[in-house]
Parts: sequence; structure tokens; C-alpha cells
Amino acid sequence: MSISNTGEFSFSNNSIRQDFELLTKALDASITGIIITDNQLPDNPIIYSNAAFERLTGYTRKEIIGHNCRFLQKDDRNQPERKIIRDAVEQGESCVVEIRNYKKNGTLFWNELYMSPIKDEAGTVTHFIGVQNDISRRKQAERELKQQQDQMEKKIAERTKSLRESEEYLSSIVETVRESLIVLDAQSNILSVNEHFLRIFKVSREETEGKLLFELGNGQWSIGKLRSMLEQVLPTSNPVLDFEVEHDFPHIGKKLMLVNAYRVEFEGSHKDRILIAIEDITERRDIEKRKDDFLSIASHELKTPLTTVKGFVQMMSKFMPADASDKFKSIVDKTTIHINRLNDLISELLDVSRLQSGLISLHKEAFDFDKMIKDTVEGIQAATPSHHITVKSRAITTYNGDESHIIQVVSNLLSNAIKYAPDSKEILVYTSLVSNYIKVSVTDYGMGINTDDQKRIFDRFYRVGNVQQRFPGMGIGLYVCDQIIKNHGGSLWVDSEIAKGSTFSFTLPLEEGKAE
Ligand code: ADP
Repeated sequence: MSISNTGEFSFSNNSIRQDFELLTKALDASITGIIITDNQLPDNPIIYSNAAFERLTGYTRKEIIGHNCRFLQKDDRNQPERKIIRDAVEQGESCVVEIRNYKKNGTLFWNELYMSPIKDEAGTVTHFIGVQNDISRRKQAERELKQQQDQMEKKIAERTKSLRESEEYLSSIVETVRESLIVLDAQSNILSVNEHFLRIFKVSREETEGKLLFELGNGQWSIGKLRSMLEQVLPTSNPVLDFEVEHDFPHIGKKLMLVNAYRVEFEGSHKDRILIAIEDITERRDIEKRKDDFLSIASHELKTPLTTVKGFVQMMSKFMPADASDKFKSIVDKTTIHINRLNDLISELLDVSRLQSGLISLHKEAFDFDKMIKDTVEGIQAATPSHHITVKSRAITTYNGDESHIIQVVSNLLSNAIKYAPDSKEILVYTSLVSNYIKVSVTDYGMGINTDDQKRIFDRFYRVGNVQQRFPGMGIGLYVCDQIIKNHGGSLWVDSEIAKGSTFSFTLPLEEGKAE
């Protein structure tokens, strides 16, 4: 067999020719590009290429026979794969590379090249056979995948960074708050605590985290009230708010704690984690108690001499000489008014301290409710010509309760209606029976109260900011009214709109106090 310079084979033997033609046809039918190089000729030239190779590269057989394969890389010579091929040729070994090749028209394609040596009987490498596949699509897909991966990694890195930042931000808040925070799992194991907890309860992180809350420090947290409170949180998901727990801790003594517990919510779903926030209110409660004690003592101490002064002023009025000057009479009258006012204020303070200490006692008796309303309104109306009080009553007969206390409530609501509606005249008192409740409403058309303040005006000593300068008062009246109504089993509330007026209403249950 010999090969012409156009790559044609010529044969002397017919049967070999037939075999060979069959072989070449088979190679031409292959869909992978195949070339054969002659390793024994200088520069290892191509001596055969199949049809698929022509299709793959765009070169005709005539154009490449006799050339070294390197023309496939055109000017793109700086590829490490070229060295792998060179070494394989030199060593007479096979190799597999993925290399950038160029078609005749200059288009790049990725060639997956398998190169194997063909050896003669003596073991000398006579030829190399190269099998080529265009893997450009796979390479493209790989490149796109890589790009996507890179982008994804970049995004993950950015997200991780911002997560880390918000985590640091959150943990700096958690560590700065002046509340002790504990996170528990469903079995009450402590997952984490903040610094404040460690500081207040004088424990270390090691002896706390991972431990069962109720076993902490020889069971010092095994507090019955706390246990049953936590049992409520998980099944219902309802938070427990401002729950007071008092406990005597071995190292730090008695502590009064305000506990809030929430089931931790994450992306809308509840996880079996409980966040407990503990505020140590021992000191605050102590200060409050001392303040209450002071108020109680001060008002008692003031009341006694004031009663004496009041008696003397009454005597002065009684024994006023007939020829006393008008000026003198006016001074005695004014003194009486101011002493009465002072007396009322001190009585209010005494009421507060009695309520605080739970010493206030109800003297329940059946009384005529309508008459009580009528008399109270008449008394206030007589002293207040500036306003006109209308009573609309749906006959309620007798009620069993502490009449003087209910009078105190109605008077208080009426004097507030007068005080905080200086520019309007009308005040309406409406009484009715709703189901088995007595309902009383006092409506004024005065300054009104905004929604936020409405929630707080029943607190002790709370006054709406802007009234302080214009109207006298201590912010006690409504607190006392609220307590009195609660003591009767009823409730007191307000509906109000700024600059339109307010309606204070209370209900009293009849079954508690209904007279036979
Ligand atoms: P005081 O009148 O002595 O301040 P109260 O406890 O009776 O104390 O009232 C608490 C606060 O509620 C008042 O300071 C006032 O700001 C507001 N308030 C009470 N009644 C009325 C009302 N009828 N209209 C507007 N504000 C009112």
C-alpha cells in the first residue's frame, strides 16, 4: 500500500484493497472526526482524515493532508494542552485533551481530542490516530453554569455579609437592653441568654446555656408560677405579658421580676422556641412603695391639723361680730373655700393610699339610685352656674352598693366634665338599664382626649400633658373612680374625640348588688 500526495491509497493486492475500502467507508460513516498522522515522517504530518473531520473543521482532505495538526489552533498557540499533546507524541503515549481549535472560516470550536499511538510489531510508534469531537456546546453550557455559580457565590457572599451585619446589629441590641433575655426550646432547655441575664443573676454562660431552666443553679429557677406560665405559651402561641414573679434566689436574695414570654415567630410560622424577657423590678417596686408610704403618712399627718384649722375657721364664721367689715367676712369666706379645697385634695390622697394598701372597705346598702343621681347633680349644679346639667334617666329603683363611693364617682366625672369643657355649657347625664347592668354616662362637649391618653388617664397621677398649666388637679380622680367601680364588679371607660368632647361611662352589675 502507498499514499499519493493527495492522500489517496493505492494497493497491489485486491482483497487487501477491498478490506481497506470497507475500513475507510466505515471511518467515513463515523460521526466523530478522525485523523491519522505518520510519526515516522518529519513533523508528524496528517496522512488521513475522514468525512466527519471535514465537516467538523470545514477543511477538505486535500487541504490538510501532509500538514501537522497545529494549524487547527491558528494563532491561539498559548494553550497548555498543546504541551500535553507534544509530550504524548514524544513519549509515544496516548492523551486526552480539550483544546480550542478553529474551523477554516475562523470559528472557534472546542475539540475533545483523544490521541493514541499505533505501534508496529517492534513496538515503534508509526502513526498516531486522533479522534475529535466538537464539545463547544458542552463547554458553553459549562461556562454558563460556571458564570451562574460565580454569580450565585457572589450573591451568597453578599447575603452572608448582610446577614452577619444584621446579626451583629441584633446581637448588639440584645446585649445592650436592660432586660434579661433567655431563649428556651420546647423542653425548657436554655439555648441562649444575654449578658444582662448573666450579670443580674450572677451566673456564667457555661453553667447556663444548654442546661434545663428548672435545673439551673440547683433548681433555683424551679419556680411553680414560672413553670405553669411557660406551659401556657407553647400550645397557644399567646404571649404572656407583664407576669409578676417573686422569688428568693440563694446568691442574690429576693427578686421581684416582671416576666414576658413569647413563642418565637419566624417567617410567619411559630417555632418551638420561647423568648423570655425578665425585668428586675425589685428596686422600682421598693421605691414605689416608699413613695406610697410617704404619701400615706404625709396625707394623714396633714389631715389632722387641717381638721383643726377647719374647725377654727368654722368658729370664726359662727362668732363673727355683727359689725365685722365686709373685707374681713370675705377673707373668712375665701379661707373656708381654700381649706375645703385643701381638705378635698388630702382626702383624694388618702383614698389613693387606702386603695393601694387595699384598706378601702365597701359599706354596701340598698339605696335609691335615681335619687342619688338627682341629688348629686343638683348639688353640683347649684355650685356651677356656668354649666347646665341635664339628666336623662330610665327609672332604676334600688341598687345595693356603697352609696358614698358611687356619689364620689359621679361627682368626679361631673367636675371633670365641667373643668375640661370651660367653653361649652351643656353636660348630659344618662342612666339606663342594659341587660342586668346599670349604665351611667356623663357627656361633655369640651376639649376631648386623644386615643393614646385615653388608655392612660385611669393611671395614678396621670394627667394629659397640655392640661397641667390651665387646670388644677393631681391626676388621681379617675384612678379612684376606676378602683371604686371595679370594687363593685363594674367597669369604667371613656369615648372621646379631640375638640368634640368626652363621654365617661360606667356599668354596675345588678346581680351583685340588686336589692330584694
Ligand atoms: P385631674 O382632673 O385631677 O387631673 P383625673 O384623674 O380626674 O385627674 O383626670 C386625669 C386626666 O384625664 C386629667 O388630667 C385630664 O387630662 C383628663 N380628663 C379627665 N376628664 C376629662 C374630660 N372630661 N375631658 C377631657 N379630659 C379629661
